[in-house]
Amino acid sequence: MDKMKAYVFKDVGNLVFEEKPIPHVTEPDDVLLKVKAVGICGSDIKIIEGKHHFKPNTVLGHEFCGEVIEIGTHVKHVKLGDRVAVDNNIRCGFCSFCRMGLTSQCVDIKTSALGVMRDGGYAEYCLVPEKQCFTLPDVIDDILGTQVETLATVVNGMNTLLMLPYDYVMIIGFGPIGYLFGQFAKNIAAKVAVTEIDPFRISVARECGLTVWNPQEVDVVEKITDFTYGRKADIVIEATGNALEQALQCVTPGGKVLPFGMDSSVKATIVPNEITRWATKILGLYLGQNTMVPSIRLFEENRLNMGPFFTKVIPFDEGLGAFDLLGLDMKTLQHKPKQAMKIVMKM
Ligand SMILES: [Zn+2]
Ligand SMILES: [Zn+2]
Repeated sequence: MDKMKAYVFKDVGNLVFEEKPIPHVTEPDDVLLKVKAVGICGSDIKIIEGKHHFKPNTVLGHEFCGEVIEIGTHVKHVKLGDRVAVDNNIRCGFCSFCRMGLTSQCVDIKTSALGVMRDGGYAEYCLVPEKQCFTLPDVIDDILGTQVETLATVVNGMNTLLMLPYDYVMIIGFGPIGYLFGQFAKNIAAKVAVTEIDPFRISVARECGLTVWNPQEVDVVEKITDFTYGRKADIVIEATGNALEQALQCVTPGGKVLPFGMDSSVKATIVPNEITRWATKILGLYLGQNTMVPSIRLFEENRLNMGPFFTKVIPFDEGLGAFDLLGLDMKTLQHKPKQAMKIVMKM
């Protein structure tokens, strides 16, 4: 049987680069992709740390694109040779959430995600249902193609926020998600500031021409108050997963807070009466939702400055070293300063 190389998540703290049999199409609706490139996501790191739902013995990797090399008997919308981006969250299409347009709440989503609950794109080949594939135009290269799903989550955030041209926007956390929101805010809003603690990511924010504050060095509530002439931010995007309380202190009366970061180990204390008194809108959302096509359009029309986004493109077999640059010591599972924004493995 032919073999391929893959990074398999064995269990918490244990990601192994090993050989596996190349999968082949057996379901009529599946396609087999030859993976072209795959991005390393913050949630992959959370999975390795055991801070995200996971399934042992799964090939990780949910930010990927590839070429269609086998198709099932019922496949009719993609064809052999197509280059496609993947929405890794498989939505059933039949539950009441799917049928009412709220596909991010599909009852199957927690048990079917590619690269989380079933084998994903940290491999040379990956089986994907046809309906998860989105054909890429030539102007979107393989590296950018890995980020269509990432951008789709942020576009869902933008759809929820309805950012206006006169909004003051604050983004807490300048990782890849904060970066993408920062690009939108820079294009749309009146003024935007971001916060970040890692020196490397602070320098990327500056390179993007953004105002950036380190919350370990300055009082960000004071900063946002001065920055907005005493008013505070109309929109606060919390992209770390652990700063909801700070977000609530930085938002203006009547303003919106978007908790976007994901860390199920974090708890927050809030005063419900303050939400009422200051008419704060806390807007929850999850994943992308009908936002893959809009994301492809945004990349195709080059609407976002993606230059400083990609820190490194590395060969596929050098992937284990990338986690170190992203702030996780793979031997001790201790955190260290991040030396990268996004790292992509290229086959
Ligand atoms: Zn991701
Ligand atoms: Zn569903």
